[in-house]
Amino acid sequence: MDNENRAKELRNLLNEYSRAYYTTGRSLVPDSEYDRLFDELTALEKSFPELRTPDSPTLRVGSDLSSDFPETEHTIPVLSLDKAYSAKEVYAFIDRIHKANKFASFVLEEKIDGFSIVLYYKDGLLEKAVTRGNGRIGNDVTANVRTIKAVPLRLSRPVTLAVRGEIYLPVSEFERINSSLEEPYANPRNLAAGTIRRNKSSETARVPLSIFCYEGFWEGESFDDHIKILSGLKELGFCVDPNLSYFCNTKEEAQQRLQEAGLEGRACAYEDLPLEIQRHTEERKTLGYEIDGLVLKVNEIGFRDELGYTEHHPRWAIAYKFEAPQAQSVVRAMDVQVGRTGRITPMARINPVRLSGSVIQNVTLHNQDYIDSLELAVGDTVAISKRGDVIPAVESVIDKNPDGNTTWTIPLQCPVCGSAVERRGAHHFCTGKNCPAKEKGSIEYFCAKKQMDIEGLGPQTVDYLYDKGYIHTIADLYRFDFTSLVDVERGFGLKKTQAIEQALKESRKRPFRRVLAGLGMNEFSHNVIQILQRAGYKSKSSLYELVSDPQKAREILTTINGIGPLTGEEVIKGLTDTENRKLLDELESFGLCMDDGLQQEEVSDLEQIFLGQSWCVTGTFENFQPREKAMEEIKKRGGTEVSSVSRKTSCLLAGKNAGSKLEKAREYGVRIVDEQEFLKIIGGSDHGHEPEDQDLFGGWER
Ligand code: NAD
Repeated sequence: MDNENRAKELRNLLNEYSRAYYTTGRSLVPDSEYDRLFDELTALEKSFPELRTPDSPTLRVGSDLSSDFPETEHTIPVLSLDKAYSAKEVYAFIDRIHKANKFASFVLEEKIDGFSIVLYYKDGLLEKAVTRGNGRIGNDVTANVRTIKAVPLRLSRPVTLAVRGEIYLPVSEFERINSSLEEPYANPRNLAAGTIRRNKSSETARVPLSIFCYEGFWEGESFDDHIKILSGLKELGFCVDPNLSYFCNTKEEAQQRLQEAGLEGRACAYEDLPLEIQRHTEERKTLGYEIDGLVLKVNEIGFRDELGYTEHHPRWAIAYKFEAPQAQSVVRAMDVQVGRTGRITPMARINPVRLSGSVIQNVTLHNQDYIDSLELAVGDTVAISKRGDVIPAVESVIDKNPDGNTTWTIPLQCPVCGSAVERRGAHHFCTGKNCPAKEKGSIEYFCAKKQMDIEGLGPQTVDYLYDKGYIHTIADLYRFDFTSLVDVERGFGLKKTQAIEQALKESRKRPFRRVLAGLGMNEFSHNVIQILQRAGYKSKSSLYELVSDPQKAREILTTINGIGPLTGEEVIKGLTDTENRKLLDELESFGLCMDDGLQQEEVSDLEQIFLGQSWCVTGTFENFQPREKAMEEIKKRGGTEVSSVSRKTSCLLAGKNAGSKLEKAREYGVRIVDEQEFLKIIGGSDHGHEPEDQDLFGGWER
């Protein structure tokens, strides 16, 4: 192919990848592949300037502009960064700069993998928050950004300035939110970007986003170097990355200049650079937030001005990008898994391959659209990554299969029961009424910890007993004599079967709300059930009575704070369904609780807003003395206590004189909540809210 056509092809590819990346958050190819193509086009344009078209991707910043928000012009340069993939290239950058000015010193910062934002302040008040957009024009997302606690709305001084920062979602919060989603996000960056682009700021507010700020442009004030700018930002109330490294001729000189600026960070000499890059690369896994590289910046503002900008990036900075660990494998087969609700999840079975410490052989493919976008077929050689370092994903097809297999499609019949498969929205579902996959899944769900917590009946045991024909439904659990398995089934001794019987006996004491949740009916989440109970519907009979007149039930349900029309409809549907009623009646006949009005165990009136979260409490409080009282409030709302802060901790409640735990939380990017905020959170939790809101991201575009 001649140069002209290759340049055209590269422009088309880069534009296509860029569009997908910035507008849908999807990577069609790994970043390194995108950057390789970008570098190839840059080199071609350098050798043959006549090939550079005005719309070349090398001449502009990848645009994240969206028509959903008003556009506004930036008053500062909002560009991308030049890239390097090795310490050698970073050294070459330092050499280049030193040739131009031997007195330049450098700051090495973490490259936060989040969402780029510019905050504009006037006389100390936040006036506007604008996305990077195309570098010249961005989207005004002020209302959403205002909800981020770490973005100061009022500064400590009435200054007018623009601040560049990266909005991010701490890893622990990403894992917590993502684990509750049917379709998880690929990484915290995508979730943060989706959150900032929400139409309702009340929805943004529910995601604990945070921010690190890394550049400041004051009106009427000037600073001679970057570390003073960072220190100035800190003084005004912004969070700056505490984990930077500062490079001078000697460590001592670096130390002194850091001290003068009153800034945290590591003092280094130039020769420490490779070691520092290695240290940051290793520490990356222990941070509470994701970084995708490091940014080396000239410190002196005067030198920066001399170096200037290209249309795409400043000449005074370079990003060292970490390679996302990837492995290569071949797709051996593709098939589907059928879940409790009948949802079909396509899977790729690949030749076992080791990646980031584990062997991967099964990779979820989400749905048909995902497979189509990859054009994935059996026999293809694929690039595998671990998204968010956890979930294995097929990133791209490296080589098409030699057998001519075409893009794989989800079968038209359920592989488990043979019933027809139908598409509903983005997913396919098995329509079989008695599909074994659904039946097993329902029993497993009922027995799970969060529902009836029946020890000894984990998924494997349930599968085995189902396949052997001992149990078919939830009611069978109470019908079947487990001790009859002794001497009949290997692994089912007297001790084990008696323990199961005992666990089932215990389960008869569980409150009705857990029995009801255990049936896994659509929209009957723990939260919706709790709302119904608070509205007085605590028993099977009261619920049956409620739905005996569906029209009246509709009217009543919509008056209950927290039940939307959709949920109301599903409540009626679930409770009038003959199968569900038959099961509830059967369970009642086995002695399971059907009335929480009669239960000894008190139904907490409080919404379980901290369910699944781990909290650490430190410092002293005005309203909680001793501080254990604060922990009681957390536990009452479903949270658990931890005595020290780790990367996995969800929140630190920090009172006055908080010490090392606060430091740790900052280091790990753990969400920090002060007493005022805590009071607001628990104050608000007495009031019900839309259960649809529980699935924060259910209806999100991604
Ligand atoms: P980038 O994200 O690699 O780097 C620039 C951004 O880094 C800045 O806008 C800023 O928001 C952020 N940043 C974080 N911490 C920073 C700090 N301490 N100092 C300065 N900036 C900091 O660049 P980009 O232009 O947003 O995206 C281009 C990159 O995105 C490409 O190099 C490629 O890797 C990736 N990309 C991938 C695809 C794909 O299909 N895989 C498509 C388009 C872009």
